Amino acid sequence: MPAKDLEQIVNLCKRRGFVYPSAEIYGGFRSSYDYGPLGALMLRNVKDAWVRAMVQQRDDTVLIDAAILSPPAVWEASGHLANFTDPLVDCTSCKQRFREDHLDDRSVCPGCGAKDSFTEARAFNLMFKTHAGPIEGSGAEVYLRPETAQGMFVNFANVLQTSRKKPPFGIAQVGKSFRNEITPGNFIFRTREFEQMELEFFVPPADGPQWYEYWCSERLNWYVGLGIPSEMLRLRAHDADELSHYSAGTSDVEFLFPWGWGELEGIAQRTDYDLKQHATHSGEKLDYFDQATNERYVPYVVEPAAGATRTMAAFLLAAYDEDEVGGELRTILRLHPRLAPFKVAVLPLSKKDTLTPLAKQIHRTVSDRYMVDYDDTQSIGRRYRRQDEVGTPLCVTVDFDSLEDNAVTIRDRDTTEQVRVPIDSLMGELLARLGF
Ligand code: ATP
Repeated sequence: MPAKDLEQIVNLCKRRGFVYPSAEIYGGFRSSYDYGPLGALMLRNVKDAWVRAMVQQRDDTVLIDAAILSPPAVWEASGHLANFTDPLVDCTSCKQRFREDHLDDRSVCPGCGAKDSFTEARAFNLMFKTHAGPIEGSGAEVYLRPETAQGMFVNFANVLQTSRKKPPFGIAQVGKSFRNEITPGNFIFRTREFEQMELEFFVPPADGPQWYEYWCSERLNWYVGLGIPSEMLRLRAHDADELSHYSAGTSDVEFLFPWGWGELEGIAQRTDYDLKQHATHSGEKLDYFDQATNERYVPYVVEPAAGATRTMAAFLLAAYDEDEVGGELRTILRLHPRLAPFKVAVLPLSKKDTLTPLAKQIHRTVSDRYMVDYDDTQSIGRRYRRQDEVGTPLCVTVDFDSLEDNAVTIRDRDTTEQVRVPIDSLMGELLARLGF
């Protein structure tokens, strides 16, 4: 049974060191979050799982890591300076600001309940602007990227030349993006600083629609493969009036959040819009010469664009469960082993010196391959609960018999089943159970 309300996850994240409110000792900084010891591991696992599927397991994509700061020319060409806006309305009664397209009822302020109190909507640009170097002025203006995608377009020619790829091929990137959201909220669902995982897939123009279908189903399957029940996911095609300025068709992968369906990822047909815009503005050729057909063309782009931080919230919500073990309520994160912060916990039954050397040695061996927790405090039952609550798939318990029989107990998070295995075959057993 997934989490019924967001608070269950927010509390668990705070209590167990996944996610903390940012700058908390100074009263917090609205809608900013810091990823703690377990959250940092899990977020990295989400991004690694994406890179694994989108780059490692394919032969037609490459990974880049582009700069976060970029000059206005990039955003002029991409259309973001003119178009990357949300409709902002002010309540004249309580002075709060809202995104007009997120209001259920435009005639009632959700902040104070006032009727017909909103100003006319005005376009609010979501990009953060700052200055590079010591002199403030328009010449030194730079923007924090609001998406990673432009890094792929401006490097198209570089990557084409150096990677020897040809369409259909993709450039992937994972990294931070920044948007001055009017109404951030719902924990890490919408923040002003977040992480994205984007692929720009360049194809011959005629093949655009077919690759769009392909990526829609590939991406939906990625979430299912990592443990989100398919009834909590859906693919929703945008209506014509929702489409971005560059898009010839977009579908969102949506997740059933406690407050309703919300976007995890957009898959867009960006056509040749971006490459043409950058070619025109930069004066550089951004096209491809196909030697087989003797044709020069500007590739079309299909873009699956996901959020790593938002997706992490979805994985946590879907994995949350409560059950009863030995007459006690247990909270458990049924995370896919690839996403779990720790794959294994090594637990010596007692803190006594007699057990410590063997337990430490097992920790050293297992941690060579996996992220492992080591916990020797409190009763073994409580330690199992603690590991269940953070989603650790397997516990390895070292007891006094281990010193005699050279065997340890493996305990499974989901079934709570325990089996005794020889230490010699522990690594093979863990591999078989985790699947990697
Ligand atoms: P929304 O409609 O929710 O504002 P969007 O359609 O503007 O999102 P895209 O530009 O398609 O989002 O960005 C791709 C992905 O990046 C989104 O699906 C989401 O997972 C993530 N993302 C976008 N904005 C944010 C944000 N403010 N906080 C966290 N993740 C975000």
